[in-house]
Amino acid sequence: MAVFSNAAFADHEHIAFHQDPVSGLTAIIAVHNTALGPSLGGCRMYPYASDSAAITDVLRLSKGMTYKAAMANLPMGGGKSVIIGNPHTDKSPEMMQAMGAFVASLSGQYIVAEDSGIAVSDVHMMATKTKYVGGLNAKFTYEGTPSDGNPAPSTAYGTFVGLKAAVDFALQKDLSELTVAIQGVGQVGYRLAKHLHDAGAKLVVADTYRPAVEKAKSDFGAQIVDINDIHCVAADVLAPCALGATINPSTINHIQATVIAGAANNQLLTESLGQLLFDKGITYAPDYVINAAGIIDIHHQHVQSTPEKMKAHIERIGTTLTEIFEQSQRQQRATNLIANELAEAKFQ
Ligand code: NAD
Repeated sequence: MAVFSNAAFADHEHIAFHQDPVSGLTAIIAVHNTALGPSLGGCRMYPYASDSAAITDVLRLSKGMTYKAAMANLPMGGGKSVIIGNPHTDKSPEMMQAMGAFVASLSGQYIVAEDSGIAVSDVHMMATKTKYVGGLNAKFTYEGTPSDGNPAPSTAYGTFVGLKAAVDFALQKDLSELTVAIQGVGQVGYRLAKHLHDAGAKLVVADTYRPAVEKAKSDFGAQIVDINDIHCVAADVLAPCALGATINPSTINHIQATVIAGAANNQLLTESLGQLLFDKGITYAPDYVINAAGIIDIHHQHVQSTPEKMKAHIERIGTTLTEIFEQSQRQQRATNLIANELAEAKFQ
Protein backbone atom coordinates (compact mmCIF):
# COMPACT_ATOMS: atom_id res chain seq x y z
CA MET A 1 0.00 0.00 0.00
CA ALA A 2 1.95 2.98 -1.29
CA VAL A 3 1.55 6.34 0.42
CA PHE A 4 4.65 8.52 -0.08
CA SER A 5 5.38 6.95 -3.47
CA ASN A 6 1.72 7.14 -4.52
CA ALA A 7 1.50 9.40 -7.60
CA ALA A 8 -1.34 11.25 -5.86
CA PHE A 9 0.74 12.02 -2.72
CA ALA A 10 1.58 15.42 -4.23
CA ASP A 11 3.17 17.06 -1.17
CA HIS A 12 0.30 16.47 1.22
CA GLU A 13 0.88 18.18 4.56
CA HIS A 14 -0.81 15.59 6.73
CA ILE A 15 -2.54 12.24 6.28
CA ALA A 16 -4.26 10.64 9.25
CA PHE A 17 -5.55 7.05 9.46
CA HIS A 18 -8.04 5.92 12.06
CA GLN A 19 -9.94 2.82 13.03
CA ASP A 20 -12.56 2.69 15.78
CA PRO A 21 -13.35 -0.93 16.69
CA VAL A 22 -16.49 0.00 18.66
CA SER A 23 -18.38 1.70 15.80
CA GLY A 24 -16.53 -0.05 12.96
CA LEU A 25 -15.20 3.25 11.55
CA THR A 26 -12.24 2.95 9.18
CA ALA A 27 -11.34 6.37 7.84
CA ILE A 28 -8.62 8.53 6.34
CA ILE A 29 -8.29 12.32 6.48
CA ALA A 30 -5.97 13.96 3.94
CA VAL A 31 -4.89 17.57 4.37
CA HIS A 32 -3.22 18.72 1.18
CA ASN A 33 -2.38 22.35 1.85
CA THR A 34 -3.28 24.93 4.51
CA ALA A 35 -1.27 27.92 3.21
CA LEU A 36 -4.44 29.96 2.60
CA GLY A 37 -6.41 28.71 5.61
CA PRO A 38 -7.74 25.56 7.27
CA SER A 39 -8.51 22.78 4.82
CA LEU A 40 -12.14 22.21 3.91
CA GLY A 41 -13.54 19.23 2.06
CA GLY A 42 -16.33 16.71 2.14
CA CYS A 43 -16.32 13.27 3.68
CA ARG A 44 -17.05 10.49 1.20
CA MET A 45 -18.29 7.06 2.29
CA TYR A 46 -17.71 4.33 -0.26
CA PRO A 47 -17.07 0.56 -0.23
CA TYR A 48 -13.56 0.87 -1.66
CA ALA A 49 -12.20 -2.36 -3.10
CA SER A 50 -8.90 -1.87 -1.24
CA ASP A 51 -7.11 0.44 1.20
CA SER A 52 -4.97 1.62 -1.72
CA ALA A 53 -8.04 2.67 -3.70
CA ALA A 54 -9.28 4.66 -0.69
CA ILE A 55 -5.91 6.38 -0.21
CA THR A 56 -5.61 7.30 -3.88
CA ASP A 57 -9.15 8.70 -3.91
CA VAL A 58 -8.73 10.80 -0.77
CA LEU A 59 -5.37 12.17 -1.96
CA ARG A 60 -6.68 13.13 -5.41
CA LEU A 61 -9.79 14.74 -3.95
CA SER A 62 -7.98 16.73 -1.24
CA LYS A 63 -5.45 18.12 -3.72
CA GLY A 64 -8.34 19.17 -5.96
CA MET A 65 -9.89 21.08 -3.05
CA THR A 66 -6.70 23.15 -2.58
CA TYR A 67 -6.82 24.22 -6.24
CA LYS A 68 -10.58 24.83 -6.10
CA ALA A 69 -10.40 27.06 -3.00
CA ALA A 70 -7.41 28.99 -4.35
CA MET A 71 -9.04 29.70 -7.71
CA ALA A 72 -12.24 30.83 -5.98
CA ASN A 73 -10.15 33.25 -3.84
CA LEU A 74 -11.31 31.63 -0.61
CA PRO A 75 -9.29 31.79 2.63
CA MET A 76 -9.21 28.00 2.77
CA GLY A 77 -6.93 25.11 2.04
CA GLY A 78 -7.71 21.71 0.62
CA GLY A 79 -8.58 18.53 2.46
CA LYS A 80 -10.89 15.58 2.18
CA SER A 81 -11.83 12.46 4.12
CA VAL A 82 -13.06 9.01 3.22
CA ILE A 83 -14.81 6.34 5.24
CA ILE A 84 -14.31 2.83 3.92
CA GLY A 85 -17.71 1.14 3.96
CA ASN A 86 -21.08 0.86 2.33
CA PRO A 87 -23.18 3.94 3.17
CA HIS A 88 -26.41 1.95 2.83
CA THR A 89 -25.51 -0.95 5.13
CA ASP A 90 -22.51 -0.01 7.30
CA LYS A 91 -23.32 3.48 8.52
CA SER A 92 -24.52 4.16 12.08
CA PRO A 93 -24.90 7.25 14.30
CA GLU A 94 -22.04 5.89 16.46
CA MET A 95 -19.81 5.70 13.38
CA MET A 96 -20.62 9.30 12.44
CA GLN A 97 -19.84 10.42 15.99
CA ALA A 98 -16.54 8.53 15.86
CA MET A 99 -15.79 10.33 12.59
CA GLY A 100 -16.55 13.62 14.33
CA ALA A 101 -14.07 12.76 17.08
CA PHE A 102 -11.47 11.86 14.42
CA VAL A 103 -12.00 15.26 12.74
CA ALA A 104 -11.69 16.95 16.17
CA SER A 105 -8.32 15.26 16.72
CA LEU A 106 -6.85 17.41 13.93
CA SER A 107 -7.72 20.55 15.96
CA GLY A 108 -9.20 22.54 13.08
CA GLN A 109 -6.62 21.75 10.43
CA TYR A 110 -9.46 19.99 8.59
CA ILE A 111 -13.12 21.06 8.37
CA VAL A 112 -15.51 18.31 7.32
CA ALA A 113 -18.61 18.64 5.09
CA GLU A 114 -20.90 16.28 3.20
CA ASP A 115 -19.94 14.37 0.06
CA SER A 116 -21.06 11.27 -1.77
CA GLY A 117 -22.52 8.71 0.68
CA ILE A 118 -22.69 11.26 3.52
CA ALA A 119 -25.87 13.27 4.14
CA VAL A 120 -26.28 16.57 5.96
CA SER A 121 -27.84 14.56 8.85
CA ASP A 122 -24.58 12.56 9.11
CA VAL A 123 -22.57 15.77 9.36
CA HIS A 124 -24.93 16.90 12.13
CA MET A 125 -24.06 13.67 13.95
CA MET A 126 -20.33 14.37 13.50
CA ALA A 127 -20.95 17.87 14.86
CA THR A 128 -21.84 16.38 18.26
CA LYS A 129 -18.11 15.59 18.61
CA THR A 130 -16.42 18.42 16.72
CA LYS A 131 -16.96 22.08 15.96
CA TYR A 132 -14.94 21.73 12.75
CA VAL A 133 -17.87 21.15 10.39
CA GLY A 134 -18.90 23.15 7.33
CA GLY A 135 -22.19 23.50 5.54
CA LEU A 136 -24.43 23.27 8.62
CA ASN A 137 -26.79 26.00 9.75
CA ALA A 138 -26.90 27.51 6.26
CA LYS A 139 -28.94 30.71 6.30
CA PHE A 140 -29.66 31.71 2.70
CA THR A 141 -29.30 30.73 -0.92
CA TYR A 142 -27.68 33.00 -3.52
CA GLU A 143 -31.24 33.99 -4.49
CA GLY A 144 -32.03 35.17 -0.96
CA THR A 145 -34.42 32.33 -0.10
CA PRO A 146 -33.93 30.17 3.03
CA SER A 147 -31.36 27.41 2.52
CA ASP A 148 -31.62 23.78 3.62
CA GLY A 149 -27.82 23.54 3.50
CA ASN A 150 -27.64 21.82 0.11
CA PRO A 151 -24.86 23.48 -1.96
CA ALA A 152 -26.14 21.98 -5.26
CA PRO A 153 -28.27 25.02 -6.26
CA SER A 154 -25.17 27.23 -5.98
CA THR A 155 -23.01 24.68 -7.80
CA ALA A 156 -25.54 24.50 -10.63
CA TYR A 157 -25.75 28.28 -10.91
CA GLY A 158 -21.94 28.63 -10.92
CA THR A 159 -21.72 25.94 -13.58
CA PHE A 160 -24.32 27.79 -15.66
CA VAL A 161 -22.38 31.05 -15.35
CA GLY A 162 -19.15 29.26 -16.31
CA LEU A 163 -20.79 27.50 -19.24
CA LYS A 164 -22.03 30.85 -20.55
CA ALA A 165 -18.50 32.30 -20.26
CA ALA A 166 -17.12 29.34 -22.24
CA VAL A 167 -19.80 29.73 -24.92
CA ASP A 168 -19.14 33.48 -25.16
CA PHE A 169 -15.45 32.78 -25.63
CA ALA A 170 -15.62 29.85 -28.03
CA LEU A 171 -18.87 30.25 -29.95
CA GLN A 172 -20.09 33.84 -29.48
CA LYS A 173 -23.65 32.54 -29.66
CA ASP A 174 -26.72 33.09 -27.53
CA LEU A 175 -27.71 30.11 -25.37
CA SER A 176 -31.05 29.95 -27.22
CA GLU A 177 -29.14 28.89 -30.35
CA LEU A 178 -27.38 26.00 -28.62
CA THR A 179 -27.78 22.31 -27.90
CA VAL A 180 -26.27 21.15 -24.61
CA ALA A 181 -25.66 17.47 -23.78
CA ILE A 182 -25.82 16.86 -20.02
CA GLN A 183 -24.29 13.68 -18.63
CA GLY A 184 -26.07 13.06 -15.32
CA VAL A 185 -29.21 14.96 -14.30
CA GLY A 186 -28.94 14.58 -10.53
CA GLN A 187 -28.72 17.33 -7.91
CA VAL A 188 -26.56 19.62 -10.02
CA GLY A 189 -27.26 18.40 -13.58
CA TYR A 190 -31.04 18.79 -13.23
CA ARG A 191 -30.72 22.34 -11.92
CA LEU A 192 -28.23 23.20 -14.66
CA ALA A 193 -30.76 21.84 -17.16
CA LYS A 194 -33.39 24.20 -15.73
CA HIS A 195 -31.12 27.26 -16.10
CA LEU A 196 -30.33 26.26 -19.69
CA HIS A 197 -33.96 25.52 -20.55
CA ASP A 198 -35.01 28.90 -19.14
CA ALA A 199 -32.36 30.49 -21.38
CA GLY A 200 -33.82 28.72 -24.43
CA ALA A 201 -31.19 26.01 -25.00
CA LYS A 202 -32.09 22.60 -26.43
CA LEU A 203 -31.13 19.72 -24.14
CA VAL A 204 -29.97 16.15 -24.60
CA VAL A 205 -29.60 14.12 -21.41
CA ALA A 206 -28.39 10.75 -20.18
CA ASP A 207 -28.48 9.21 -16.73
CA THR A 208 -28.21 5.69 -15.32
CA TYR A 209 -31.33 6.44 -13.25
CA ARG A 210 -34.31 6.32 -15.64
CA PRO A 211 -36.67 8.56 -13.56
CA ALA A 212 -34.06 11.35 -13.70
CA VAL A 213 -34.05 11.51 -17.51
CA GLU A 214 -37.83 11.11 -17.70
CA LYS A 215 -38.18 14.15 -15.43
CA ALA A 216 -35.81 16.19 -17.61
CA LYS A 217 -37.85 15.15 -20.64
CA SER A 218 -41.20 16.13 -19.14
CA ASP A 219 -39.96 19.35 -17.47
CA PHE A 220 -37.66 20.65 -20.22
CA GLY A 221 -38.48 18.67 -23.38
CA ALA A 222 -35.00 17.12 -23.19
CA GLN A 223 -34.07 14.38 -25.65
CA ILE A 224 -32.94 11.20 -23.87
CA VAL A 225 -29.93 9.23 -25.13
CA ASP A 226 -28.08 6.17 -23.85
CA ILE A 227 -25.37 6.78 -21.24
CA ASN A 228 -22.81 5.32 -23.65
CA ASP A 229 -23.71 7.86 -26.35
CA ILE A 230 -23.98 11.17 -24.49
CA HIS A 231 -20.36 12.21 -25.13
CA CYS A 232 -20.77 11.62 -28.91
CA VAL A 233 -23.93 13.72 -29.31
CA ALA A 234 -23.75 16.45 -31.99
CA ALA A 235 -24.16 19.19 -29.37
CA ASP A 236 -22.42 22.56 -29.00
CA VAL A 237 -21.66 21.91 -25.33
CA LEU A 238 -20.98 18.74 -23.36
CA ALA A 239 -21.71 19.16 -19.63
CA PRO A 240 -20.32 16.25 -17.55
CA CYS A 241 -22.36 16.26 -14.32
CA ALA A 242 -22.06 12.63 -13.19
CA LEU A 243 -18.80 10.86 -12.44
CA GLY A 244 -15.13 11.69 -12.88
CA ALA A 245 -12.80 10.56 -15.69
CA THR A 246 -15.47 10.69 -18.39
CA ILE A 247 -12.92 12.34 -20.68
CA ASN A 248 -10.53 9.50 -21.35
CA PRO A 249 -8.74 7.83 -24.29
CA SER A 250 -11.90 5.89 -25.24
CA THR A 251 -14.22 8.92 -25.33
CA ILE A 252 -12.05 11.86 -26.38
CA ASN A 253 -12.04 11.18 -30.13
CA HIS A 254 -15.83 10.87 -30.24
CA ILE A 255 -16.60 14.21 -28.62
CA GLN A 256 -18.34 16.52 -31.10
CA ALA A 257 -18.98 19.46 -28.78
CA THR A 258 -16.90 22.65 -29.10
CA VAL A 259 -17.20 23.38 -25.38
CA ILE A 260 -16.91 21.09 -22.34
CA ALA A 261 -18.37 22.76 -19.26
CA GLY A 262 -19.88 20.72 -16.43
CA ALA A 263 -19.86 20.21 -12.68
CA ALA A 264 -18.28 16.77 -12.26
CA ASN A 265 -15.01 16.56 -10.33
CA ASN A 266 -11.87 15.12 -11.96
CA GLN A 267 -13.34 15.06 -15.49
CA LEU A 268 -10.01 14.35 -17.20
CA LEU A 269 -8.63 10.86 -16.60
CA THR A 270 -5.14 12.36 -16.91
CA GLU A 271 -3.94 15.97 -17.10
CA SER A 272 -2.36 15.36 -20.51
CA LEU A 273 -5.82 14.95 -22.06
CA GLY A 274 -6.32 18.70 -21.59
CA GLN A 275 -3.74 19.43 -24.29
CA LEU A 276 -5.44 16.93 -26.62
CA LEU A 277 -8.73 18.79 -26.12
CA PHE A 278 -6.98 22.08 -26.86
CA ASP A 279 -5.38 20.66 -30.01
CA LYS A 280 -8.80 19.45 -31.17
CA GLY A 281 -10.17 22.99 -30.78
CA ILE A 282 -12.36 22.13 -27.78
CA THR A 283 -12.68 24.77 -25.06
CA TYR A 284 -12.55 22.91 -21.73
CA ALA A 285 -13.65 24.70 -18.55
CA PRO A 286 -11.39 23.25 -15.81
CA ASP A 287 -13.64 21.32 -13.44
CA TYR A 288 -12.46 22.74 -10.13
CA VAL A 289 -12.91 26.29 -11.41
CA ILE A 290 -16.42 25.90 -12.84
CA ASN A 291 -17.80 23.77 -9.97
CA ALA A 292 -16.48 25.89 -7.07
CA ALA A 293 -19.79 27.52 -6.11
CA GLY A 294 -20.55 24.79 -3.55
CA ILE A 295 -17.59 25.81 -1.38
CA ILE A 296 -18.21 29.48 -2.11
CA ASP A 297 -21.68 28.88 -0.66
CA ILE A 298 -20.28 27.14 2.45
CA HIS A 299 -17.84 30.03 2.96
CA HIS A 300 -20.56 32.68 2.80
CA GLN A 301 -22.68 30.78 5.32
CA HIS A 302 -19.81 31.08 7.82
CA VAL A 303 -18.83 34.73 7.51
CA GLN A 304 -20.89 37.87 7.89
CA SER A 305 -22.28 37.81 4.36
CA THR A 306 -25.39 38.39 2.29
CA PRO A 307 -27.06 36.58 -0.63
CA GLU A 308 -25.95 39.43 -2.91
CA LYS A 309 -22.29 39.00 -1.92
CA MET A 310 -22.54 35.24 -2.36
CA LYS A 311 -24.11 35.61 -5.80
CA ALA A 312 -21.47 38.13 -6.92
CA HIS A 313 -18.73 35.77 -5.71
CA ILE A 314 -20.28 32.85 -7.64
CA GLU A 315 -20.54 34.99 -10.78
CA ARG A 316 -16.80 35.70 -10.64
CA ILE A 317 -16.37 32.08 -11.79
CA GLY A 318 -17.25 33.40 -15.26
CA THR A 319 -14.55 36.09 -15.16
CA THR A 320 -11.93 33.65 -13.88
CA LEU A 321 -12.73 31.19 -16.67
CA THR A 322 -12.53 33.91 -19.33
CA GLU A 323 -9.05 34.83 -18.05
CA ILE A 324 -8.03 31.16 -18.27
CA PHE A 325 -9.42 30.80 -21.82
CA GLU A 326 -7.62 33.97 -22.96
CA GLN A 327 -4.30 32.87 -21.46
CA SER A 328 -4.74 29.43 -23.00
CA GLN A 329 -5.31 31.03 -26.40
CA ARG A 330 -2.31 33.35 -26.07
CA GLN A 331 0.03 30.60 -24.90
CA GLN A 332 -1.47 27.83 -27.09
CA ARG A 333 -1.63 25.60 -24.01
CA ALA A 334 -4.33 23.58 -22.30
CA THR A 335 -6.78 25.36 -20.01
CA ASN A 336 -6.26 22.84 -17.18
CA LEU A 337 -2.51 23.57 -17.14
CA ILE A 338 -3.11 27.34 -17.09
CA ALA A 339 -5.59 26.92 -14.22
CA ASN A 340 -3.14 24.76 -12.26
CA GLU A 341 -0.41 27.40 -12.58
CA LEU A 342 -2.73 30.24 -11.55
CA ALA A 343 -3.89 28.25 -8.51
CA GLU A 344 -0.36 27.22 -7.51
CA ALA A 345 0.76 30.86 -7.65
CA LYS A 346 -1.84 31.59 -4.96
CA PHE A 347 -1.03 28.83 -2.47
CA GLN A 348 2.63 27.95 -2.99
P1 NAD B 1 -25.86 13.29 -7.91
O1 NAD B 1 -25.48 11.95 -7.38
O2 NAD B 1 -27.06 13.98 -7.37
O3 NAD B 1 -26.06 13.23 -9.51
C1 NAD B 1 -25.26 12.47 -10.33
C2 NAD B 1 -26.17 11.85 -11.39
O4 NAD B 1 -25.36 11.13 -12.33
C3 NAD B 1 -27.16 10.83 -10.79
O5 NAD B 1 -28.47 11.13 -11.24
C4 NAD B 1 -26.65 9.49 -11.32
O6 NAD B 1 -27.71 8.56 -11.54
C5 NAD B 1 -26.00 9.90 -12.62
N1 NAD B 1 -25.00 8.98 -13.15
C6 NAD B 1 -24.19 8.12 -12.48
N2 NAD B 1 -23.41 7.45 -13.35
C7 NAD B 1 -23.73 7.91 -14.58
C8 NAD B 1 -23.26 7.62 -15.87
N3 NAD B 1 -22.30 6.71 -16.09
N4 NAD B 1 -23.80 8.28 -16.93
C9 NAD B 1 -24.79 9.20 -16.75
N5 NAD B 1 -25.27 9.51 -15.51
C10 NAD B 1 -24.75 8.87 -14.46
O7 NAD B 1 -24.55 14.19 -7.73
P2 NAD B 1 -24.44 15.77 -7.85
O8 NAD B 1 -24.44 16.37 -6.49
O9 NAD B 1 -25.38 16.27 -8.88
O10 NAD B 1 -22.95 15.92 -8.40
C11 NAD B 1 -22.65 15.68 -9.75
C12 NAD B 1 -21.16 15.86 -9.98
O11 NAD B 1 -20.78 17.18 -9.63
C13 NAD B 1 -20.28 14.93 -9.14
O12 NAD B 1 -19.12 14.61 -9.88
C14 NAD B 1 -19.90 15.81 -7.96
O13 NAD B 1 -18.66 15.38 -7.39
C15 NAD B 1 -19.76 17.14 -8.64
N6 NAD B 1 -19.93 18.27 -7.73
C16 NAD B 1 -21.08 18.41 -7.03
C17 NAD B 1 -21.23 19.49 -6.17
C18 NAD B 1 -22.51 19.72 -5.40
O14 NAD B 1 -22.69 20.81 -4.86
N7 NAD B 1 -23.40 18.75 -5.34
C19 NAD B 1 -20.19 20.43 -6.01
C20 NAD B 1 -19.02 20.26 -6.77
C21 NAD B 1 -18.90 19.16 -7.61
